[in-house]
Parts: sequence; structure tokens; C-alpha cells
Amino acid sequence: MTAPNAQPLQSLDEWEDDLKTRYPEADKPAFLATDPEKKKEEFRNYAKNARPSVREFYRLNHTYQSYDFVKAKKADYLKLNRRQMTVWEAAEYLNNLVDDSDPDTDLSQLEHLLQTAEHIRQDGQPRWFILAGFIHDLGKILCLYGEPQWAVVGDTFPVGCAFSDKIVFSEFFSANPDINDPKLSSRLGVYEEGAGLGQVDLSWGHDEYIYHVVKDRMPEQALYMLRYHSFYPAHRELEYNYLMNDHDREMFKWVNAFNPYDLYTKNHAKPDAQKLRPFYEDLISEYLPGKLSW
Ligand code: FE
Ligand code: FE
Repeated sequence: MTAPNAQPLQSLDEWEDDLKTRYPEADKPAFLATDPEKKKEEFRNYAKNARPSVREFYRLNHTYQSYDFVKAKKADYLKLNRRQMTVWEAAEYLNNLVDDSDPDTDLSQLEHLLQTAEHIRQDGQPRWFILAGFIHDLGKILCLYGEPQWAVVGDTFPVGCAFSDKIVFSEFFSANPDINDPKLSSRLGVYEEGAGLGQVDLSWGHDEYIYHVVKDRMPEQALYMLRYHSFYPAHRELEYNYLMNDHDREMFKWVNAFNPYDLYTKNHAKPDAQKLRPFYEDLISEYLPGKLSW
């Protein structure tokens, strides 16, 4: 099976905009409804109103993110032998990502990172938390290496075990080769009950990549934020608890603390990158000095 390089989204932001439709700010009822009937109905409305580009994006993502695909991408990218860059250089490199987003209304990638980090900073959070905000999407440079959108962004989910039906557009997993494999499609799949997320392969994308780039140098809370910020099936839908251990559950408090900064800061004023640069260069040199392997 050859995986297509189709780019259905106008821009990577279209996925995040769609997340905000599914998970509106301040827990306005929508998808946080506790009544399962109401929730079903809301999902039907969401699915009906979802943009065709978003639907096609998830179709590709769910079709091609198989266990073998993830293993192959990890074996390739996690050698981290592509580039040597400082964090600021990586942010500027990511800013070369030109897609069809609207330059008047949409933020650049660097602006999204600064805005997320600045919001965290304004709330008086620890310095490593601010830095996690600044670097959380640097893994999107995968796009610049030629990876299709569906292998860079999208809600992540475990592969190697059954796909939860709470994953957005889960019907598209019917085309994933793993559902024909008795082991890979079973509840536990290749894992053990409560094994811990460190043992579990998630669908490949920008979260896992940035986690590996910085994993020896940042506090564990930050690493959880980076690695699982797109794991909506777990941090929003509370699925896959059976793969987690108590330590994961404890650490997911931080993943939950991070999520609103990522999702809901986009409408705020555009940050001034050159003015903010000295603060961030200083913060980077505290935790992640010099060139990193990407
Ligand atoms: Fe992200
Ligand atoms: Fe983000």
C-alpha cells in the first residue's frame, strides 16, 4: 500500500481550528456533554458540518497510520540525523512553512508558538512551562521534510491495539490495514494492561518528534505536554486509560494544564517576535543551549 502525499488541508491551522469546533473554549457544553445521547447527537452535528478538507484529512490519517507505518517513521526520524539547529533556528526554519493560510488573519507558526508561550508566561507559570509552549509545535518541521499533513498533525492515537470509537471520524479506520490483524485489532494488542504510555506507540506526528529532540533536557512534566498535546482521545475523551499507569495519570494533569494555552490563545494580538526574542533566547539557553539534533 503506498501512502499518498495529498494535502487536503488549506493549512495546518485548519486542523487546530477544527479542534476548537469540537472542543469549544471554557467547556461550553458541546463535546463535553456527559449525557451520552446528547454527545452522540452533537457528534453527528459536528460530522455533518465538518469541512470536506478536514474530513478528507482524517480519512487519510486513519487509513495510513498503521502500526508498521509508525514503526518505520520512528526508525527513520528518531535517528535525529537530519539537521543541527538551535531552538530559535528551528523556529525560524518552521516559519518557512508556506501553506494557504491567510497572512492577514492567520498567525505564522512562530507567532503561534510565541502567543502560546506568552499566555503561559502571563499566567505566572514556571519557566520550563513557558519553554514547552514555545517549542511544542517545532515538530511540524516534518512538513518541510516532505511529510504529508496526515503524518504531521491530527489527533494522535495508539497503534498496535484496537482503535477507540471515540476518536474523531473513527469510521475511517475501516480502511486501516491493522483492523484485519487479529492481534493489532484486539483491545490490548501488542501491549500489556496498564503498561504505561512509554511502552505505547502513538500515531506518528509532530508531538513524538519534538519529544525525542529534547527528551534528555527538560523536566518530565514538559515532556508529557510535548509528547501528548495532540492525544485528544486520552486527554479529552478519557480513552485508553487501560494502557496508562498511575504515573501517566498523574502527569496528564500537566497535559491538561497545557491544552487550553495551545487551543485558545489564537485570537489574541500578534506577538512581536523581534521584541520577544531576547527573553526566549535566554530561556532556551537555560534548558536547551546550543545546536540540537533534529
Ligand atoms: Fe501541536
Ligand atoms: Fe500548537
